[in-house]
Amino acid sequence: MKKIAIAIDGPAAAGKSTIAKRVANNLGYTYIDTGAMYRCVAYYALVKGVDFHDENAVCRLLPEIKINLNDRDVTADIRVNEISAGASIVSVYSKVRTYLVAQQREMAKEGGVILDGRDIGTVVLPNAELKIYQVASIECRALRRHNENL
Ligand code: C5P
Repeated sequence: MKKIAIAIDGPAAAGKSTIAKRVANNLGYTYIDTGAMYRCVAYYALVKGVDFHDENAVCRLLPEIKINLNDRDVTADIRVNEISAGASIVSVYSKVRTYLVAQQREMAKEGGVILDGRDIGTVVLPNAELKIYQVASIECRALRRHNENL
């Protein structure tokens, strides 16, 4: 069966990545955690002592960043609050977005992938064969985020 690209969009804490990982597991697809990519940019800036708010300095780091979580396991390091805040700051920079979106498209071009996050169905993969907009009640989203924070 042809392996397609699946794009999941929707509000924060709706459970997008939870569903994306389960679907990836069931279908033997690759889950591309685009949020982790923005987190890696922030993490690298932090390691290099670059202020998240210094757009030019952050963008200058881009060619040096190899988004490969296998070389050094940063899985836990990129989930701390400081990096959540940093990812949110650096993800606004257009050069950062262009750079990561290009990588996401490259990874998705053969299909067999599932991606979630901002802009996925609109900007990153506008031609994805399946686009899902996932919603959840405000109570459910608040509880999910609360449990995450705990
Ligand atoms: O999903 P996660 O919390 O790991 O994403 C970290 C940050 O990366 C988000 O707060 C958002 O600012 C940014 N992001 C983005 N576009 C995506 C995924 C994440 O701008 N597709």
